[in-house]
Amino acid sequence: MNDRHAILFEPVRIGPKTLPNRFYQVPHASGFGSGRPRTQAAFRAVKAEGGWGGVCVEYAPVSWDSDEIPAIGADIWDDRDAKALGLAAEAIHAHGSLAGLELYHGGASSPNGSSRAARLAPSQLTSEVLWGGLAKEMDTGDIARVQRDWARAARRAADVGFDIVYVYGAHGYLMTQFLSAHANRRTDGYGGSLANRGRFWMETLAAVRAEVGGECAIATRIAVHGDSGVPGAAGLPGIHIDDMLALVAMADDMVDLWDVTVGSWPEDSGTSRYYPEGHERPWAHRVREATAKPVVAVGRYTSPDLMAEVVRSGAVDLIGSARQAIADPFLPRKIAEGRLDEIRECTGSNVCILREETFRHVGCVQNATAGEEYRRGWHPESFPVAADPGRPVLIVGAGPAGMECAVVLGKRGFTSVHLVEAEPELGGRLRWARRLPTLGDWGRIIDWRAVQLARLPGVEVITGRRLTDKDVLEYGADLVVIATGSVWRGDGAQPGYPDPMPGADQGLPFVLTPQEACAGKRPPGPRVVVYDTDGYYVAPGVAEMLAAGGFEVTVVTPFDVLSPVSDQTLEGDMLRAHLHRAGVSVRPVTTITAISAASVTGHDRHGERWSAACDGVVLVTQQASQEALYHELASDETALTAAGISGLYRIGDAVAPRMISEAIFDGHRLAREIDGKDPARPAPYRRERADLP
Ligand code: ADP
Repeated sequence: MNDRHAILFEPVRIGPKTLPNRFYQVPHASGFGSGRPRTQAAFRAVKAEGGWGGVCVEYAPVSWDSDEIPAIGADIWDDRDAKALGLAAEAIHAHGSLAGLELYHGGASSPNGSSRAARLAPSQLTSEVLWGGLAKEMDTGDIARVQRDWARAARRAADVGFDIVYVYGAHGYLMTQFLSAHANRRTDGYGGSLANRGRFWMETLAAVRAEVGGECAIATRIAVHGDSGVPGAAGLPGIHIDDMLALVAMADDMVDLWDVTVGSWPEDSGTSRYYPEGHERPWAHRVREATAKPVVAVGRYTSPDLMAEVVRSGAVDLIGSARQAIADPFLPRKIAEGRLDEIRECTGSNVCILREETFRHVGCVQNATAGEEYRRGWHPESFPVAADPGRPVLIVGAGPAGMECAVVLGKRGFTSVHLVEAEPELGGRLRWARRLPTLGDWGRIIDWRAVQLARLPGVEVITGRRLTDKDVLEYGADLVVIATGSVWRGDGAQPGYPDPMPGADQGLPFVLTPQEACAGKRPPGPRVVVYDTDGYYVAPGVAEMLAAGGFEVTVVTPFDVLSPVSDQTLEGDMLRAHLHRAGVSVRPVTTITAISAASVTGHDRHGERWSAACDGVVLVTQQASQEALYHELASDETALTAAGISGLYRIGDAVAPRMISEAIFDGHRLAREIDGKDPARPAPYRRERADLP
């Protein structure tokens, strides 16, 4: 280990417990809750194994009137829930780390989609627009009951082995609703002055401490307003930092660990597109002014040097992480062993959040094993040894899918893997995407894989060679993996309009694909329409690039807003504000159906015709798999047999154009299973089912 990182490996006392080091996986949602306890346990355990000294399970609703359906929380309403969650505590302990549970009540933010309970809030004003209706103003009986539930949940958590229990107050949930003068309009002892608004929080801390103090460390998660100062999850204005520091001082005796978040969730989980590493520091680090107790804060830290510097500054005691711990559960061990070039750095793209929020199953673009620990038995650092390592493997195409496949095959011990790429540079679609404005850190996907490939003795990387079917047949490979990716169709075919768009065939210079725009092709005049039916990062990236080059850019899209997928990564509002500042105009709910020599024509959602004069169109409409090579080979089994090819597979966008994370998953999956019974089909995975009577 480098001496300058030694500080990160010091133990830290939190109340009655001692963390073995300063690496702390803060609570974050996974989609597993207490309903998929083995999946939950395996997902958390691998972080403990990788050296995170504290590992927390996600938000755990303490009461049935904080029911998160359609989201998934780690309900701890009864002993059976607790027993299920206890599997995680046990699995974390097996690696010598401390286990934390984030006890929680969402108040007005809890959808109660399953329990159908009335939402609770300090005042009826606090309605949650998203879910319809208003919340019930809590009477003193409700207040006492929720506090009792909290203490009981803490008892259950302690009994199944959790070392750290939370009184979760951040992100606009019930504690914050009480603390916010905006949401809390009470005139009794729980409203009005800061001391009154903080009373619910203080009393809950006291109740939890009375129940498990001295047995468990008591953590509380707070939110201070940040740069955005904008609403939190419940539409609340951020709590001003001075108020929060006053609360910290008031509650300090009852708290063993302060867990600090900043601003709204999109700011706190700020993506690399809009926030640098450690961006929360100016806000989060001020908490030290009010407490000498241990403090943990996140910052999407990926650099061990910066982590050590932050601790050395004295502002925080623990390096909090959610996303980096997902991207590389073994980061602490890699730092300890000086294996810095093996750290899989988080890209800060929030694909983990998209997967968890949208699909209720966390995942990661960098770490294909995240969330697959239990159901597929995957481990981020260990790989099944190849049954027959000498079998020559040829992978055609070095985009994310092909690179991942080659890395995993190399790690499995295959000794003759050739990764052949047509272009001079590795990376596939990321070759150009990483050069779009704000997307630089996504390049880490390629960089990490390129570094690993260079160290794997069994893998040879060949660039600048485009293989034909004849080349593949003559290559001498036993197993062939086609990872030739996809290209943007320039024909304007789009959802609902599968045929080519009239006028798209004029091509350059008036009609461009995103790839052509990224390669430096430009329309002949200043007014450019970027037409987006893709909905994610390509259209905003191309639009910003062209605007920066002096073009007058309008993004036209059938979606309600520009880049709706970015809402799932918490970036939507920032992205739209950013493009607005960059001078890009947006015309939503509009479909383009034809291109002429100097204009585009279409209609809005109500069928009203619309057209605009322009000097060029970039069609971010649909991609097409480059599957010709695969089909040429697959169609001639005799030739394959004669060539000694026993397995032909395809992965990534060559199968179907998808997100980068899914292409990587595909490559990873095939590499693990390539010597299984039927590698073309994913092996069945284990599913957790509710116990039958
Ligand atoms: P994925 O995300 O599935 O990896 P990409 O489109 O990002 O797909 O990458 C596919 C890569 O395959 C590109 O770098 C492309 O240049 C390369 N490629 C496509 N056809 C061939 C071929 N015939 N020979 C070698 N490389 C190819």
